[in-house]
Amino acid sequence: MSHIALPVPPRKRIALVAHDHKKKDLMEWAKFNRNLLIQHELCATGTTGTLLEKVLGIEVLKLQSGPLGGDQQIGAKIAEGVIDFILFFWDPLEPQPHDPDVKALLRLAVVWNVPVACNRASADFMISSPLMSSSYERTLPDFDAHLNRFEEGMDEKTETTSAVDKP
Ligand code: PGA
Repeated sequence: MSHIALPVPPRKRIALVAHDHKKKDLMEWAKFNRNLLIQHELCATGTTGTLLEKVLGIEVLKLQSGPLGGDQQIGAKIAEGVIDFILFFWDPLEPQPHDPDVKALLRLAVVWNVPVACNRASADFMISSPLMSSSYERTLPDFDAHLNRFEEGMDEKTETTSAVDKP
């Protein structure tokens, strides 16, 4: 399969999400890393974003609260190619009402090769990477084959289906 490269700018578009029992962790981390974080463009799920604005003293684009669709909004932004880095402190010890959305967000991050930090140690390693302040090329599989998969084969597929349906 061939690949394409998406340019990632030095000023990253960062999405932040923390489940309720992880919000304190993320706020402490954000406060400690304020000087690095404020160099980037931040968006967050609703409650996480409100807390971040207080801790950082800067404006954060606030989406819906996670359980109300915020995780899915971040997923949509990943698919649009406008998220470069995700801090997602999800809670491994509590079931969430929006578990399918959590899984979907993590899945899309992998599909689109977007880096995700799910705990403080990963976030420490990632935020201190020289790549955070430089350009980067995010490599992706060329999805053209997927997009064009019905270009030739629809007739064949229909014939096969009707052949099976015949008595
Ligand atoms: P919240 O959403 O920031 O609105 O609390 C986070 C989540 O639970 O996904």
